[in-house]
Amino acid sequence: MTTAFTIPGTTRYHLDANCPALDSARLTHSGVFRTTDTADFTPCLVCASTAATEWTLTSENLGELLELVGPSKPHWAPLPAEALGVSTQIDGLTIWAHNGQPRTVARYGDTITRQPGGTWTVTRVEARA
Ligand SMILES: [Zn+2]
Repeated sequence: MTTAFTIPGTTRYHLDANCPALDSARLTHSGVFRTTDTADFTPCLVCASTAATEWTLTSENLGELLELVGPSKPHWAPLPAEALGVSTQIDGLTIWAHNGQPRTVARYGDTITRQPGGTWTVTRVEARA
């Protein structure tokens, strides 16, 4: 058994107790983590060293892609026109304009790709169908 860390209520495991994605998850869940058998969990994209350069954005991996995609922040779902207040619903990742690339939003199901030059592109889920 590999020693890994997970937070109750999440589906991911972390190999590094200092992983920034684990730290972020602590803010939105119970705040405590425990060691676990990895069998029932999915590896965190940040601390499971991987050569991957392409990911499909999901609500499960958003916090990890937020760490991996440097120039990014959560994207808040627009409120219905009649609603008051501020949106508290995250529906994707905003990737800031950088290195000559336009600012773009990846929504759940879209594919985010790190290009060889260090830039990021987003392929819409419907564009791949
Ligand atoms: Zn991690």
